[in-house]
Amino acid sequence: MTDPTTTRGDTAITLFGAAGEVTGSCSLLEVDGARILVDFGLFQGDRRSERRNLELPEIDFASLDAVLVTHAHVDHCGRLPMLVQRGFGGPVFCTDLTAALLQRVLRGSARLQRIRLDEFREGRAPEAVPLWREGTPPPEASVERVNGAEAGVGLDDLEPPVLYGDSEVEELLHLLQPLPLGARARISEHVSVRFGHAGHVHGAAHAIVEDDRSDKALAVFSGDVGSPHTGLLRPPDDLPPCRLLVLESTRGDRLIQDSDDPDHELAAVLDEVRSIDGTLLLPTFALGRAQTLLWRLATASRRGHLEGLLVVLDAPMAAFVLDRMREHPEQFAPGPARLLAEGTDPLWIEHVHRLHSRRQSLKHAGRRSTVVLAGSGFCDAGPILHHFQEGLPKPHVRVGLSGWHPEGSLGWGLLRNCSHARIDGEEVEVLAGMRRLEGYSGHANAEELANWASSGPSRPDAIVLNHGTDPSRTALGQRLRSLGHEHLLTPVPNERTVC
Ligand SMILES: [Zn+2]
Repeated sequence: MTDPTTTRGDTAITLFGAAGEVTGSCSLLEVDGARILVDFGLFQGDRRSERRNLELPEIDFASLDAVLVTHAHVDHCGRLPMLVQRGFGGPVFCTDLTAALLQRVLRGSARLQRIRLDEFREGRAPEAVPLWREGTPPPEASVERVNGAEAGVGLDDLEPPVLYGDSEVEELLHLLQPLPLGARARISEHVSVRFGHAGHVHGAAHAIVEDDRSDKALAVFSGDVGSPHTGLLRPPDDLPPCRLLVLESTRGDRLIQDSDDPDHELAAVLDEVRSIDGTLLLPTFALGRAQTLLWRLATASRRGHLEGLLVVLDAPMAAFVLDRMREHPEQFAPGPARLLAEGTDPLWIEHVHRLHSRRQSLKHAGRRSTVVLAGSGFCDAGPILHHFQEGLPKPHVRVGLSGWHPEGSLGWGLLRNCSHARIDGEEVEVLAGMRRLEGYSGHANAEELANWASSGPSRPDAIVLNHGTDPSRTALGQRLRSLGHEHLLTPVPNERTVC
């Protein structure tokens, strides 16, 4: 449990999560005698992945000097309340915008864990039923796998974990020390931290750990890096000179954008829904993808593709983030910033109705001529389930699915045209049409990541690649090498690297 103390000049980095995979971010930096944890996120995926969250890394949490949080996505922040269970009472630094989001994200996470356990115990957990339409065989996984049965312990036997309660969340929130972008906070005698804009989601930042005695930062943690082409947030700030860069590589093997023209794709689906007097269901994460979708819907609204359609925003967290974005227009990309300067709200949609309760969700479920953007996780929680229950059995309903869904989840099954779904214990036939919507990722692709790593006045002395599968890390490493980055590291989980 004890970590060797570093002396001045040594920098040690250990990845306790997101090493060769894309969730569970947790890095320990030991530098100049200070021990700093960067991000403490959830492992996500199937139930076995979720159970990994119960096993905390071998870190002496109580003696950490500080914790830094890059942004409010749960794979970066979702285990923070577990710090107080292990005796940590020090400062947790993040941007002021992220701090405002963490209040809701962490309280919501504790609540969701309890709900999912109850649903599991009562047999009400949402899932794709392992029946598939003729001509659409379940691809890479077997039917049994969808049903959770594998050799040994089946996923069905594993309860969703409850990691912490409300009191631990409140204790953790008291430790937050919000910083405006660029403002410095001291961690130890010579070491301080500041944050730079990452362009990934509202409030997201890269964390810059500095030594007063050097012009070169000791370490920069990229967090998640945004694409300069999402259209809503301004591109990331340039990388400052640094000795060590810990760089995410989620899309390190992806070169092209998901879609050449996401506006065109969305407009085509909206036109289809209008032509059949139908309903479009858009399940989405509340932070990031929801705001990008709303920005695209606002663009569609200005171009007339929403005429005759009511937009229902059934995602209180997404609406909260939307309002915070309007308060911080300095985060906008040039496109929306120009609209704002001309007096047009870039996120304005003509007919939009916000829902705040389960009762309102149930009342609006099944309405025609409606676009419903609803909070959903991986289609396994949130208000989208009310709309699925009503909408999936109806042929005039379209479901716009985007992003990655864990194998065996309802979203995964819908993407593969499962014929039935089980929601709240009831089986419903799926007659709604599925439409894949691309171009909503908040992550930079391989070229954009490499360009960002090269955007400073000098190359980092060393780069550690995290937050990506091994093929992604390898592909990004090759690209970085071709740009003159020489010292590249891809540590395995729990491997302590001195650099
Ligand atoms: Zn993220």
